[in-house]
Amino acid sequence: MITTQFLKAIRFAADKHRDQRRKDHRGSPYIVHPVAVAERLIDAGISDEATLIAAILHDTIEDTECTSDEIALIFGSEIAQLTEELTVPETCTKAIDKAREISDAALLSPKAALVRTADKLCNLSDVLDDTPVGWTEERRDRYIIWAQRVIKAANCTNPILQEQLIQLITIAEARFSRIFTLPQ
Ligand code: ZN
Repeated sequence: MITTQFLKAIRFAADKHRDQRRKDHRGSPYIVHPVAVAERLIDAGISDEATLIAAILHDTIEDTECTSDEIALIFGSEIAQLTEELTVPETCTKAIDKAREISDAALLSPKAALVRTADKLCNLSDVLDDTPVGWTEERRDRYIIWAQRVIKAANCTNPILQEQLIQLITIAEARFSRIFTLPQ
């Protein structure tokens, strides 16, 4: 499924994130992340256009000057609503934001839950393959546990995404010689 709206969303997000880079060692342009999230959803059999566009736009309100009204005007109210759901409002501390992302994940609508799950799977995969510049092992390990908690809280039942989580945690445990699997 490639629609004009989907391509427009990629162009829109690429422009909004134009001054941002990923924290990997190559300093990749930020847009590679939302594109990877949409790609992961398509690989998992998701073809719903609103979900895939929300995947492309999921960090625009949180990380750029973009507003929900602007998204509603261009992409319609459903996509604006999904993007808003996926925005974690910044509070005064990172620890509160992180805890909030877990509790908010449990309240997401099914489409937003799919995007949140693919988002955290992409981030987990990035942390395993190319841990962000400046991260200690302790921070990396905390991130792996936290991302897993967000995914579990989102409670998305897509079997392919669930299997990918198991695979990533298995890789993390083998690579870093630690147990990351959460108690059931
Ligand atoms: Zn993201």
